[in-house]
Amino acid sequence: MSSNPPDLRPDLARARVTETNRPGQPTIGMVSLGCPKALVDSERILTRLRAEGYGISPDYSGADAVIVNTCGFLDSAKAESLEAIGEALNENGKVIVTGCLGAEPDYITGAHPKVLAVTGPHQYEQVLDAVHSAVPPDPNPFVDLLPASGVSLTPRHFSYLKISEGCNHACKFCIIPDMRGKLASRPAHAILREAEKLVENGVKELLVISQDTSAYGLDRKYSTHPWKDREVRSHITDLSRELGQLGAWVRLHYVYPYPHVRDLIPLMAEGLILPYLDIPFQHSHPDTLKRMARPAAGAKTLDEIAKWRETCPDITLRSTFIVGYPGETEAEFKHLLDWMDEAQLDRVGCFQYENVDGARSNALPDHVPEEVKQDRWDRFMEKAQAISEAKLAAKVGKVMDVIVDDIDEDGIATCRTKADAPEIDGNLFIDEGTEGLSVGEIVSVEVDEAGEYDLWGEIRTQLRR
Ligand code: SF4
Repeated sequence: MSSNPPDLRPDLARARVTETNRPGQPTIGMVSLGCPKALVDSERILTRLRAEGYGISPDYSGADAVIVNTCGFLDSAKAESLEAIGEALNENGKVIVTGCLGAEPDYITGAHPKVLAVTGPHQYEQVLDAVHSAVPPDPNPFVDLLPASGVSLTPRHFSYLKISEGCNHACKFCIIPDMRGKLASRPAHAILREAEKLVENGVKELLVISQDTSAYGLDRKYSTHPWKDREVRSHITDLSRELGQLGAWVRLHYVYPYPHVRDLIPLMAEGLILPYLDIPFQHSHPDTLKRMARPAAGAKTLDEIAKWRETCPDITLRSTFIVGYPGETEAEFKHLLDWMDEAQLDRVGCFQYENVDGARSNALPDHVPEEVKQDRWDRFMEKAQAISEAKLAAKVGKVMDVIVDDIDEDGIATCRTKADAPEIDGNLFIDEGTEGLSVGEIVSVEVDEAGEYDLWGEIRTQLRR
């Protein structure tokens, strides 16, 4: 029986990260047994669950359900797996079994008929499915890393890659620092090892996530770690450069506009990482940003955007905003609309402010009436939609690479361009000629039609599998 050393076992290692789950947050425990491959599976499941808004509990009593990732390689490993399932059933009661021993479901249910579900190795979708039905998700747009629509199953060809936990900032509308603690970055070599294994297992796109991606490594003082024949610094620029050499698309989410973000743009221009920045601006007006206590509240973001576009003209910028933040005046809101006119962001999400239990913004004066929030949201979205439509219309006639996410029974392929992150951005659809195409494949397409958020196109060349 090979059991991962404690610092590599997600069930044990997770306990190092101080984490307070929000009241009522659905919470899952994980016991991971077996080899490093099983560890990657466990990491992947945990990453996904966290991104969907689940809390992770280091003990049975704090969890609404427990996943046991089993090993079935030797008899002793099987016995230990059965023992772990029994312990989880006694201590918690709701148990989902996955991993190698899951390939023998009768063996498990014979010993433990009360387990909720048994799935085999690498069956992430089925595990997530079982979790969703045992403990339904409770999406919260102010806290979660994925939108509500993100609570769908992850196809095997893209994977979230979490590089750090927690955040050193104190934005007033956000309770993440209270829940997840201060920034705790994973060492660069551990991330690269996970990413490399994911790519070896068929992942074509890595979605880098964290609460504050540009701050990655700060808590480690940007320590260096041996990787292959070289040393890699735990810094977002160095990490991105290395990730970009693994042969998968690499997409960066939750990047704050710190000055060193400028160093990432040449990597995009070189084609090492996708020319895509998901950068949560939240607002444009300096006073609103100050009341939010946002990092880089004083940054000249329009100047920065212009510089990024100069270096990488194809860059896609996605952002999220909050309208109706306490004290937001009509003048501040109009500033945001004017800023949008200038910034011409490609993809935009917008929330109407709402109080979150425990957030400091709840106590701010001058909360904006609901009807005003709705009116501002409508006006904001109208502008964002017009910008998106014009940007997409300009893509008609262009040839670009797309990744295939799904092919339905009528042969219509749902794909994404480099400008579209899964589940939050638009799609490119191919209606014809998809015979022989498979999910996860990257093909070259000529865009022949554009809508408000989506594109349609025709296959030009099949590039690679
Ligand atoms: S930067 Fe602000 S909004 Fe983002 S996680 Fe940190 S405190 Fe929350």
